[in-house]
Amino acid sequence: MEKIQVVLGDITKIEVDAIVNAANNTLLGGGGVDGAIHRAAGPELLEECRKLNGCKTGEAKITKGYKLPAKYVIHTVGPVWQGGNANEDELLASCYRNSLELAAKNGIKTIAFPSISTGAYRFPLNRAAKIAIREILNFLKDNESIEKVYMVCFDEKTMNAYAEALQELSQ
Ligand code: ADP
Repeated sequence: MEKIQVVLGDITKIEVDAIVNAANNTLLGGGGVDGAIHRAAGPELLEECRKLNGCKTGEAKITKGYKLPAKYVIHTVGPVWQGGNANEDELLASCYRNSLELAAKNGIKTIAFPSISTGAYRFPLNRAAKIAIREILNFLKDNESIEKVYMVCFDEKTMNAYAEALQELSQ
Protein backbone atom coordinates (compact mmCIF):
# COMPACT_ATOMS: atom_id res chain seq x y z
CA MET A 1 0.00 0.00 0.00
CA GLU A 2 1.10 3.56 -0.72
CA LYS A 3 2.94 5.11 2.22
CA ILE A 4 1.84 8.64 1.32
CA GLN A 5 -1.82 9.54 1.57
CA VAL A 6 -3.37 12.87 0.58
CA VAL A 7 -6.45 13.63 2.69
CA LEU A 8 -8.91 16.47 3.21
CA GLY A 9 -9.28 17.50 6.84
CA ASP A 10 -8.22 19.32 9.98
CA ILE A 11 -4.70 18.35 11.06
CA THR A 12 -5.51 18.95 14.74
CA LYS A 13 -7.92 15.99 14.62
CA ILE A 14 -5.63 13.42 13.01
CA GLU A 15 -4.53 10.43 15.10
CA VAL A 16 -0.85 10.02 14.30
CA ASP A 17 2.40 9.94 16.26
CA ALA A 18 3.28 13.48 15.12
CA ILE A 19 1.70 16.39 13.29
CA VAL A 20 3.82 19.05 11.64
CA ASN A 21 3.13 22.71 12.35
CA ALA A 22 3.73 25.39 9.69
CA ALA A 23 5.06 27.79 12.32
CA ASN A 24 6.87 31.14 12.15
CA ASN A 25 10.41 31.99 13.29
CA THR A 26 9.31 32.90 16.83
CA LEU A 27 7.53 29.56 17.47
CA LEU A 28 5.17 31.59 19.66
CA GLY A 29 2.02 30.92 17.66
CA GLY A 30 0.31 32.72 14.80
CA GLY A 31 -2.64 32.43 12.45
CA GLY A 32 -3.70 29.64 10.11
CA VAL A 33 -2.72 26.10 10.97
CA ASP A 34 -0.32 27.34 13.67
CA GLY A 35 -3.15 29.03 15.58
CA ALA A 36 -5.39 25.99 15.20
CA ILE A 37 -2.66 23.68 16.57
CA HIS A 38 -1.99 25.91 19.59
CA ARG A 39 -5.72 26.21 20.36
CA ALA A 40 -6.22 22.46 20.18
CA ALA A 41 -3.06 21.55 22.12
CA GLY A 42 -3.71 24.03 24.95
CA PRO A 43 -1.43 26.57 26.68
CA GLU A 44 1.22 24.04 27.68
CA LEU A 45 2.36 23.90 24.05
CA LEU A 46 3.19 27.62 24.07
CA GLU A 47 5.02 27.18 27.38
CA GLU A 48 7.27 24.51 25.87
CA CYS A 49 7.73 26.56 22.67
CA ARG A 50 8.95 29.56 24.68
CA LYS A 51 11.96 27.51 25.78
CA LEU A 52 13.04 26.70 22.21
CA ASN A 53 14.37 30.15 21.25
CA GLY A 54 12.64 30.18 17.88
CA CYS A 55 13.46 28.25 14.73
CA LYS A 56 15.27 29.19 11.53
CA THR A 57 13.46 28.98 8.20
CA GLY A 58 13.81 25.45 6.78
CA GLU A 59 14.67 23.91 10.16
CA ALA A 60 12.48 21.91 12.58
CA LYS A 61 12.02 21.47 16.34
CA ILE A 62 9.94 18.96 18.30
CA THR A 63 7.59 19.32 21.27
CA LYS A 64 4.96 17.20 22.93
CA GLY A 65 1.38 17.33 21.61
CA TYR A 66 -0.40 17.95 24.94
CA LYS A 67 -4.19 17.87 24.34
CA LEU A 68 -3.83 16.89 20.67
CA PRO A 69 -4.47 13.30 19.63
CA ALA A 70 -0.90 13.38 18.26
CA LYS A 71 1.88 12.60 20.75
CA TYR A 72 4.29 15.13 19.21
CA VAL A 73 4.28 18.36 17.23
CA ILE A 74 7.16 19.02 14.85
CA HIS A 75 7.42 22.76 14.28
CA THR A 76 8.98 23.84 11.02
CA VAL A 77 9.18 27.27 9.40
CA GLY A 78 8.46 27.54 5.70
CA PRO A 79 9.81 30.32 3.50
CA VAL A 80 7.75 33.40 2.69
CA TRP A 81 7.34 33.49 -1.11
CA GLN A 82 9.31 36.42 -2.49
CA GLY A 83 9.09 35.69 -6.20
CA GLY A 84 11.25 32.56 -6.41
CA ASN A 85 14.80 33.92 -6.31
CA ALA A 86 15.30 33.90 -2.54
CA ASN A 87 16.07 30.17 -2.19
CA GLU A 88 12.39 29.46 -1.48
CA ASP A 89 12.35 26.04 -3.22
CA GLU A 90 15.34 24.70 -1.27
CA LEU A 91 14.07 26.12 2.03
CA LEU A 92 10.68 24.48 1.54
CA ALA A 93 12.35 21.16 0.66
CA SER A 94 14.44 21.48 3.85
CA CYS A 95 11.26 21.82 5.93
CA TYR A 96 10.03 18.41 4.76
CA ARG A 97 13.47 16.77 4.98
CA ASN A 98 14.31 18.10 8.43
CA SER A 99 10.84 17.30 9.80
CA LEU A 100 11.06 13.70 8.55
CA GLU A 101 14.61 13.29 9.91
CA LEU A 102 13.54 14.58 13.31
CA ALA A 103 10.53 12.25 13.24
CA ALA A 104 12.66 9.21 12.44
CA LYS A 105 15.13 10.14 15.18
CA ASN A 106 12.25 10.19 17.69
CA GLY A 107 10.82 6.82 16.69
CA ILE A 108 7.78 8.35 15.01
CA LYS A 109 6.05 5.93 12.62
CA THR A 110 3.09 8.00 11.44
CA ILE A 111 3.24 11.70 10.61
CA ALA A 112 0.89 14.32 9.13
CA PHE A 113 1.95 17.46 7.24
CA PRO A 114 -0.09 20.55 6.40
CA SER A 115 0.54 22.41 3.15
CA ILE A 116 3.56 24.38 4.40
CA SER A 117 3.96 27.98 3.11
CA THR A 118 0.93 27.99 0.78
CA GLY A 119 -1.31 30.06 3.06
CA ALA A 120 -0.18 33.38 4.53
CA TYR A 121 3.33 32.77 3.13
CA ARG A 122 1.93 32.70 -0.46
CA PHE A 123 4.16 29.98 -1.97
CA PRO A 124 2.57 28.92 -5.32
CA LEU A 125 0.46 25.84 -4.58
CA ASN A 126 1.40 23.49 -7.44
CA ARG A 127 5.08 24.29 -7.07
CA ALA A 128 4.93 23.65 -3.30
CA ALA A 129 3.05 20.38 -3.79
CA LYS A 130 5.67 19.01 -6.19
CA ILE A 131 8.51 19.90 -3.82
CA ALA A 132 6.71 18.37 -0.82
CA ILE A 133 5.85 15.09 -2.53
CA ARG A 134 9.33 14.79 -4.08
CA GLU A 135 11.02 15.23 -0.70
CA ILE A 136 8.68 12.81 1.09
CA LEU A 137 9.14 10.14 -1.62
CA ASN A 138 12.93 10.61 -1.51
CA PHE A 139 13.01 10.29 2.25
CA LEU A 140 10.84 7.16 2.29
CA LYS A 141 13.10 5.54 -0.30
CA ASP A 142 16.02 5.50 2.17
CA ASN A 143 14.11 5.18 5.44
CA GLU A 144 12.16 2.14 6.58
CA SER A 145 11.10 3.39 10.02
CA ILE A 146 8.34 5.78 8.90
CA GLU A 147 5.26 3.78 7.96
CA LYS A 148 2.78 6.43 6.90
CA VAL A 149 2.85 10.07 5.82
CA TYR A 150 -0.42 12.00 5.53
CA MET A 151 -0.67 15.26 3.60
CA VAL A 152 -3.60 16.90 5.34
CA CYS A 153 -5.23 19.50 3.11
CA PHE A 154 -7.74 22.02 4.42
CA ASP A 155 -9.56 22.63 1.13
CA GLU A 156 -10.21 20.79 -2.12
CA LYS A 157 -7.98 22.94 -4.31
CA THR A 158 -5.04 22.12 -2.05
CA MET A 159 -5.95 18.44 -1.93
CA ASN A 160 -6.13 18.25 -5.73
CA ALA A 161 -2.70 19.85 -6.09
CA TYR A 162 -1.04 17.30 -3.78
CA ALA A 163 -2.98 14.36 -5.24
CA GLU A 164 -1.84 15.40 -8.72
CA ALA A 165 1.79 15.81 -7.61
CA LEU A 166 1.68 12.37 -5.97
CA GLN A 167 0.28 10.74 -9.08
CA GLU A 168 2.85 12.46 -11.28
CA LEU A 169 5.90 11.73 -9.12
CA SER A 170 5.14 8.24 -7.85
CA GLN A 171 4.94 6.51 -11.22
P1 ADP B 1 1.98 29.40 6.02
O1 ADP B 1 2.20 30.64 6.86
O2 ADP B 1 3.13 28.41 6.13
O3 ADP B 1 1.59 29.71 4.63
P2 ADP B 1 -0.82 28.88 6.83
O4 ADP B 1 -1.28 28.31 8.13
O5 ADP B 1 -1.19 30.28 6.51
O6 ADP B 1 0.78 28.63 6.79
O7 ADP B 1 -1.35 27.95 5.64
C1 ADP B 1 -0.81 26.69 5.34
C2 ADP B 1 -1.93 25.74 4.92
O8 ADP B 1 -2.57 25.23 6.11
C3 ADP B 1 -3.05 26.38 4.09
O9 ADP B 1 -3.37 25.48 3.03
C4 ADP B 1 -4.21 26.48 5.08
O10 ADP B 1 -5.47 26.41 4.43
C5 ADP B 1 -3.97 25.22 5.89
N1 ADP B 1 -4.66 25.09 7.20
C6 ADP B 1 -5.18 26.04 8.00
N2 ADP B 1 -5.73 25.47 9.10
C7 ADP B 1 -5.55 24.13 8.99
C8 ADP B 1 -5.90 22.98 9.78
N3 ADP B 1 -6.55 23.10 10.93
N4 ADP B 1 -5.55 21.74 9.33
C9 ADP B 1 -4.88 21.59 8.16
N5 ADP B 1 -4.52 22.61 7.38
C10 ADP B 1 -4.86 23.87 7.77
